[in-house]
Order: sequence, then C-alpha cells, then structure tokens
Amino acid sequence: MSKPFWETKSLAEMTPAEWESLCDGCGRCCLYILHNEETGDVFETDVGCTLFDAKKRRCTDYENRLARVPDCVQLTPQNAKTLNWMPKTCAYRRLANGQTLPDWHPLITGDPASVARAGVAVSPDLISEDDIDDALLESRITKTR
Ligand code: SF4
Ligand code: SF4
Repeated sequence: MSKPFWETKSLAEMTPAEWESLCDGCGRCCLYILHNEETGDVFETDVGCTLFDAKKRRCTDYENRLARVPDCVQLTPQNAKTLNWMPKTCAYRRLANGQTLPDWHPLITGDPASVARAGVAVSPDLISEDDIDDALLESRITKTR
C-alpha cells in the first residue's frame, strides 16, 4: 500500500485539488475570535463571519471573500505554520507543524459527516457578526484555542 499524499508531500508540493481536500469543512476559521495581547491566548466565540452560512458551513462568496472581508486570511503553504489562531484541529496547521491528520478527517474516513460526529464542526446555530454589538463579543466566548 502506498502512503497517502499528505504523508509524502509537503504543503507546497500538493496539487490544488490535494490542497483543497485538506480542508475538513469544520468552519472554525470563519468564527469571530478574540486575542489577549498580553498572554497570547486566543478565544473562540459562537459568532460567525458576515459571509458565513452556518447551516452549510460554507462561505457564501468564496471567490470574492478577500475583497469583501478584509480580515479573511488566505491560507498558503507559506503562512500555514504561522497562523497560530487557527484551530489546532485544522489540517493545514497540523501538517505545517509536522503532525498528521486526525483519524476523523474526511480524507481518512471517506465521510464528510465524520467532522461533525467528532464534535469539531461549528454549530449550525451560530449568530452572525452582523447581529451583535462589538461590545458584547466577549460574552460570546465559547472556548480557548
Ligand atoms: S479551520 Fe481549517 S479545516 Fe476548518 S474550515 Fe478552516 S481551513 Fe478548513
Ligand atoms: S469571508 Fe468567507 S472564508 Fe473568509 S472568514 Fe468570512 S466566511 Fe470564512
């Protein structure tokens, strides 16, 4: 049995299709996060980006996301290692840091639903950043990343 591409190639060596397939669709990079500048801690909220469809766990304007949402970050093989606010479960972050994929990843299970079963996917009941005052964001923290 030959090894899968994510065990034999670096992120930079992957084809566009291989690169895209690494995304498990958890949706957690589309959540609003808060940083503690002093401690470096990153806190996750249950508030989604203005373009995020929580029911489908999809960006509603992926093609134009970078122009429409200035805070949206394009993941690349070069920056994957430095984005320490990304979830620790994210395949790009894991591979960039020398880890392998978790056993619930769809590339291993063959089933996109395994992400939700593992408790990694965002809730379909998120609220949108459009519907909350900035001053209340701290009250929406759900966990530390
Ligand atoms: S956190 Fe990573 S795996 Fe999850 S949706 Fe974002 S890019 Fe994909
Ligand atoms: S613009 Fe789209 S991809 Fe970027 S954070 Fe928002 S929903 Fe996610």
